[in-house]
Amino acid sequence: MTMSVAWREETTQIGEVLRQSEKVLILEHEKPDGDSIGAGLGLALGMLFLGKNAILLSQDPHPSTYDFLPGRHLHIVVSDMKSEYGPFDAVVFLDCADRARAGAAVEFAKGDIVINIDHHVTNSMFGDINLVDPGASSTSELVFYLLKTMQVPITRNIAICLYTGIISDTGAFRYENTTSRTFAVASHLVDAGADPSRIANQLYECRTASFLLLLGKALQTLSLHHDGKVASVEITREMIRDAGSSFQETDGIVDYPRSIEGVEVALCFKERPDGIGVDVSFRSKCRVDVSKIAEALGGGGHPRAAGATITGSMEEAKDKVFSLLSKEQI
Ligand code: 5GP
Ligand code: MN
Repeated sequence: MTMSVAWREETTQIGEVLRQSEKVLILEHEKPDGDSIGAGLGLALGMLFLGKNAILLSQDPHPSTYDFLPGRHLHIVVSDMKSEYGPFDAVVFLDCADRARAGAAVEFAKGDIVINIDHHVTNSMFGDINLVDPGASSTSELVFYLLKTMQVPITRNIAICLYTGIISDTGAFRYENTTSRTFAVASHLVDAGADPSRIANQLYECRTASFLLLLGKALQTLSLHHDGKVASVEITREMIRDAGSSFQETDGIVDYPRSIEGVEVALCFKERPDGIGVDVSFRSKCRVDVSKIAEALGGGGHPRAAGATITGSMEEAKDKVFSLLSKEQI
């Protein structure tokens, strides 16, 4: 596959650093999603192939949805991490717009060289080498090019991980970040052994009953604003408990208010289990750049999918978000 991309130099530099490294620490963001998990496991398996000692680390566990992915033995959570596993020759941040996005995992991010691989437009370019392309569908797409540059064979296991990352971040090729390059990479991954139907089944047809119960409760809170252009739902700790669900299962619920005809901005307010405040998920369909709104609240993300944590109560969080939204042209 030929690579007509702007960042050939960065991939080459990263490849050289990783080849010279013995110990590599790979970091995902807090509450890892399909893209950071797929990119992380794919890169960790690639490093294993090269005989490296690679650890994939995250603050929070992987949701059980991703239990089918290969390479899980390379992943640990911060509570199981030991400082004697280091020091590392290279630390790779994946899908993190800034260092803080890795949460408590940052404490272990001590290495000779920091590599930043990401596709967020808000990325602060915090690495010694930055492979950042907001035009990429996903971090997994960038990891694919990195492994190709390094001439690491894309094994079936690596392909399964990277394909999962791509379909997670593109909503199975539905969102605007889906380009012909995304399909070209996906096609290569399918040729390498990723099975689209099996992976889609794992991601979209293996829901738990508790998720559906929670979804039902969340949808009962649906409210429309700005002449039906903004749709909002909320999820309290009590609702999660009553549904027998978990905070992780709130992922994806924001897609339902967004699916309403005429809605441009969808919001999901989620009370955090640690009591710190409320996590807000922002989605937009085609015009409003929700990453700007999330950034104004101390969060970030992409133009069409962003998030932020707001300290305080549900009512305070809603007040803050709606007062920012009323200033937007929706
Ligand atoms: P979600 O609503 O699924 O939690 O997040 C959507 C997207 O927004 C994520 O893929 C991530 O890019 C971004 N995002 C969510 N929460 C935060 C946050 O607290 N800080 C930053 N910088 N980005 C976030
Ligand atoms: Mn991503």
